[in-house]
Amino acid sequence: MTETKPKIDIDVLASLAKRRGFIFQSSEIYGGLGSTWDYGPLGVELKRNVKELWWRHFVLGRDDMVGLDSAVLMHPKVWEASGHVSSFSDPLVECKNCHHRFREDHLDGEVCPDCGGELMEARQFNLMFKTFLGPVEETASEAYLRPETAQGIFVNFENVMTTTRRKPPFGIAQVGKAFRNEVTPRNFTFRSREFEQMEMEFFVHPDEERQWFDYWLDARHAWYASLGINPERLRRREHAGDELAHYASYTTDVEYKFPFGWAELEGVANRGNFDLTQHGEHSGKDQAYFDPARNEKYVPSVIETSAGLDRTLLTVLADAYDVDEVGGDERTVLRLAPHLAPTQVAVFPLSKKLAEPARKLTDDLRGQFHAVYDDSGSIGKRYRREDEVGTPFCVTFDFESLDDNAVTVRDRDTTEQERIGLDQLAEYLGGRIGR
Ligand code: ATP
Repeated sequence: MTETKPKIDIDVLASLAKRRGFIFQSSEIYGGLGSTWDYGPLGVELKRNVKELWWRHFVLGRDDMVGLDSAVLMHPKVWEASGHVSSFSDPLVECKNCHHRFREDHLDGEVCPDCGGELMEARQFNLMFKTFLGPVEETASEAYLRPETAQGIFVNFENVMTTTRRKPPFGIAQVGKAFRNEVTPRNFTFRSREFEQMEMEFFVHPDEERQWFDYWLDARHAWYASLGINPERLRRREHAGDELAHYASYTTDVEYKFPFGWAELEGVANRGNFDLTQHGEHSGKDQAYFDPARNEKYVPSVIETSAGLDRTLLTVLADAYDVDEVGGDERTVLRLAPHLAPTQVAVFPLSKKLAEPARKLTDDLRGQFHAVYDDSGSIGKRYRREDEVGTPFCVTFDFESLDDNAVTVRDRDTTEQERIGLDQLAEYLGGRIGR
């Protein structure tokens, strides 16, 4: 499939995503913001599916992981302790001629990529968004929008450990918004200023860092393949010493081959005991854990898996996009894994005269699947509409259905059709869609 996959432009994907209600530019009627995005009716379903799969697999599916939903606004001291106030910055350069700004570490040459002008000296630009708590805008009430969900987990380490009677090795998982004032948001949703992260912080004994790091890197890499993403377009890349974040002793990214090249999907990092030690010192509340089994007191090390939900969605869409030929016509099809597809079954009456039983069938299916009803245009047109949004199965209710209590089920990928009895339909679809 790799060889036949068409080369897609990220703009082609963005225009399909907009046309079909997956993703819109934020505040578009005002010209758009360019750095934030809105998920439309299909996008929100796809996003929910990805999020739920992650949660089910890594939180509900395990004994050693619990969930958390912490606030976006936190005590400003959190960000001093975590090192974000002093170190969460990118090197910013500005062109002396056109005044466009760039991240120095993203530039290929020494001159402005837009006009060839000379660049000013780089300066460090902090990525955190500042805001004010309460009605008075003064330094004392300054706060930040969180740039990562992880710190909400670290400051609740003790709360969670004592209320759930967990002990290392165990983890805390969280999905939520993060905000970064990126210098150059670009590539559709890949780099935006507001995005969602799916993070797990796994607390372990310092002697067990490496084994848990390897374990989590394998588990996270495998998870992307389980979403139906072509494994040949996934790889790992270890960070060189000079690109490591201030808190990490080693990090490996899981990368995807996007239309614009290989880029990070997720970072798996050994954060050591940096965060818990810092919070212990800054808050005056020791974060060490006493392990009765070992008769030893230690600050746990943390293995972090930090994934971007929006980036995962972009990956799923880019990877599913395909163009082939059906009946001599070119068709655009999203080959989404059936369990991820925003619509799993579309029901069509062959004629509007069959609307009533076809609607009833749709309602029956809704209990178990994401099902939609469509009676407009020719059946061929309806198939194309569903192919373009990745609906794996279309069910046609025809005149014969009234007599034989059966319908035609058409497969998105093969376009083959099968006659299935109505009493077997839910079981048949359930088996094909899986989880
Ligand atoms: P970069 O160096 O590319 O700016 P980073 O290495 O600082 O990114 P992390 O801090 O490792 O990024 O963030 C963890 C994950 O959160 C990333 O792998 C990505 O999926 C997601 N993420 C980070 N920044 C953004 C962003 N601006 N827009 C969308 N997703 C993001």
